Amino acid sequence: MSSALHTPMMKQYLEIKSRHPDSILFFRMGDFYEMFLEDALLASKLLDITLTSRNKGGADEIPFCGVPYHSVQPYVARLIEAGHRVAICEQVEDPKQAKGIVKRDVVKVVTPALVTEAESLAPEENSYLLSLCPSGPRWGAAWLDLSTGEFKVSELESLSATAALAASLAPRELLLPEAVKREPPAELALVMGDRPRSTVPDWVLDREYAARLVCDRFGVALPEALGLSPAAAALPASGAILHYLQENRHATLPHLRDLTVVSQTDYLALDPVTRRTLELTATMAENKKAGSLLGCLDRTVTAMGARTLKQWIAHPLVRTPEIVRRLDAVEELARAGELRDELARLLKNIHDLERLNGRIAMAGANGRDLRSLLDSLEQIPVIQRLLVDTRSELIRECRDSLDPLDDLRDRIGRAIVPSPPFSLREGGIIAEGYHAELDELRTISREGKGFIARLEARERERTGIGSLKIRYNRVFGYYIEITKSNLSGVPADYIRRQTVANAERFITEELKNYEEKVLGAEERICDLEYSLFQELREEAAAHGAALSRTAAGLALLDILQGLATVAVERNYCRPTVDDGDRIEIIEGRHPVVEAMNLGERFVPNDTLLDGEAHQILMITGPNMAGKSTYMRQTALIVLMAQIGCFVPATSARIGIADRIFTRVGAGDNLARGQSTFMVEMMETAHILRNATPKSLVVLDEIGRGTSTFDGLSIAWAVAEYLHDTEQCRARTLFATHYHELAELAASRERITNLTVAVREWNDQVIFLRTIVPGAASHSYGIQVARLAGMPADVIERAKEVLKNLEEGEFEQGAPRIAKSHRKTAIPDSRQFSLFEPQGDLLRERLKKLNISGMTPLEALNLLDELKKMV
Ligand code: ADP
Repeated sequence: MSSALHTPMMKQYLEIKSRHPDSILFFRMGDFYEMFLEDALLASKLLDITLTSRNKGGADEIPFCGVPYHSVQPYVARLIEAGHRVAICEQVEDPKQAKGIVKRDVVKVVTPALVTEAESLAPEENSYLLSLCPSGPRWGAAWLDLSTGEFKVSELESLSATAALAASLAPRELLLPEAVKREPPAELALVMGDRPRSTVPDWVLDREYAARLVCDRFGVALPEALGLSPAAAALPASGAILHYLQENRHATLPHLRDLTVVSQTDYLALDPVTRRTLELTATMAENKKAGSLLGCLDRTVTAMGARTLKQWIAHPLVRTPEIVRRLDAVEELARAGELRDELARLLKNIHDLERLNGRIAMAGANGRDLRSLLDSLEQIPVIQRLLVDTRSELIRECRDSLDPLDDLRDRIGRAIVPSPPFSLREGGIIAEGYHAELDELRTISREGKGFIARLEARERERTGIGSLKIRYNRVFGYYIEITKSNLSGVPADYIRRQTVANAERFITEELKNYEEKVLGAEERICDLEYSLFQELREEAAAHGAALSRTAAGLALLDILQGLATVAVERNYCRPTVDDGDRIEIIEGRHPVVEAMNLGERFVPNDTLLDGEAHQILMITGPNMAGKSTYMRQTALIVLMAQIGCFVPATSARIGIADRIFTRVGAGDNLARGQSTFMVEMMETAHILRNATPKSLVVLDEIGRGTSTFDGLSIAWAVAEYLHDTEQCRARTLFATHYHELAELAASRERITNLTVAVREWNDQVIFLRTIVPGAASHSYGIQVARLAGMPADVIERAKEVLKNLEEGEFEQGAPRIAKSHRKTAIPDSRQFSLFEPQGDLLRERLKKLNISGMTPLEALNLLDELKKMV
């Protein structure tokens, strides 16, 4: 055993570290936080700071490194960013008072989601801790944004719904039962990606324990009082969060005052795939806000507005009255241009009240924060006056929820200097005139120097000793120094203190008294300012509930003015929403493609979907014609209407959808080891199982990932199923390059054929981007290849091959496919003979199979593999 590890200090360190094995321990020593051993090796690398050693070269060498305590925040932020946890260990007694080694303890553990410092938080994003807990097929979810105090819970009916929620929240950290953390179900693992996962021991999930934590925290006797059934899976999920907060020493959180139960049926259901493919809050390719629907609609001017808008877009509504309330508000602001501009101008001066409120509650706010609060509160009476005549119910509610907190505002204004320092301990925060004792102390401190000079002059005169000096040193404080030759003139009231080589030092009663005042003044000023500040911060914290209502009202006003601004600037119209099944869009445009304006004028198109003749729109047409854009624009317009937003069209009537499903492209799952075809089929199966007649389904090129016959047959059967199966008769946009599918319209009454108009000219194809009734008869693949810059030789050869194929005989075409539709390159079934050798291999593999020893998934994967051999 090594000796250096046995010093009392290292023993203390190791003991504390043993209680926080998963965290990097920041061990406070004087002005530094030190890290030792493995933590030091890891942190020095990640933070790029010097690693040193105690007992260097010895067998018991202890590597360590440190960061200064006053600028620790960026270091913590970097470690958190890298996915680590940091336990902050402080000296918990005054070193001067300590007997032996100073007591230390962990005062807080910072985890990826349990951060509150502004530097670690993205202003426009919530920072959620999401706790999930399975209970049979159902799941409970609870999520918390510590920085704002938002705490919500929900019951999910299935794993898919849970995954959808997790995708919509994009949490910074997940909190899972041990077993789920160890082996999350695949569907969940997919949306969790590499987000940090934490866990709580299983006993924490005990219902009674959870109920007690929840009731204690929210001050109720039973969970039912919060709308939480004791049987709900959301209860242990909430308990886990509260336990985790305690464990990491984040227990006193006065701003965590409400728990909101969210019902999933209040919102449009969007699965993770649909969120991604419709690029609601981030683009698929780069995962950026710019280029997403959010990027296009976000004209908010406050961070709270930006965050709440993101929630609105992630969770569109399904009930007409709520949607109409939002639309009324947007319309009123869209019509009132001047009022809207003025509102935006006022809101710009408002700081992030939600997070300020959080910092105030957690006693992390400084002088600047209170000043920001003041600046924000000052706008409120002006905003209320501006909105005094508005008629929209929602705007009026927002206005009424604002509280200018006059008394608090007045006090902060009087108490805090206009630009206070960052630190709370060094004074300079509290204004003159706020507190009498403080003012007096400041006068004393300011006048101290002048007083000494005056006293010196007076004493020289009184004693007649011209060389008399008043001096100061740290041991004796102020003293009067008189050289030896002048000692005879020293008055009787001088008290001798010290003899030095050439002089004697004296004090007087007056000098001592003043000294006490002056020397104590600086220190007392700092202490007094700190306590006055704390008092004020506590007063502000006492208004936490009003502040958080005000913040929420401002966030909504900000969203509404932003949506109205976009509506006016982009010429959007107010949609009519109802509970019918008709979707009727006149001259609709794709909001994002239109806004990007890449040189090509956007061509508007109409959409009509209903439960009758237009249940399924079968859209055929060449690649690059604009099919996907048309389908996505329809889905986006429906979604925007349900957000309560104006839409890019000249008019729109939207029969509200309960869910939107999309199946577009291969996505990025390839990287995760599933074949494209498998993913496509899984996603399609999910849609067929879950769609209802109220749903909107977008299917783009179903069946592309397999051979033509297979693909065509699957696409055919899927379309029939959506048409024929009563419980899933969803309104569907179905784009396909299999022109044969247009045949279906003849036998299925609710299918309408559409195509994208093209003009052929000189062996070239021009896309007109107009959607017209009818079916495409030609795929123009070769012309598109030419447009894409394919070498001329390849184009020529392709034309030859196509000609040969078209002239060839088809023996076993798909049933019911008219000859006229076989113009495209449906492969001749005889070509399978080309693969005869593969056929042998196939036979071999099939013979060796042990089917009874396979799981269904293995069987599917194998089938997929075999498929690729032919
Ligand atoms: P498809 O799905 O038929 O292959 P896309 O929808 O991907 O075609 O559209 C191809 C290109 O045409 C895209 O770059 C898109 O921006 C552009 N485009 C599509 N529709 C329109 C339109 N109505 N007006 C202008 N450009 C359009």
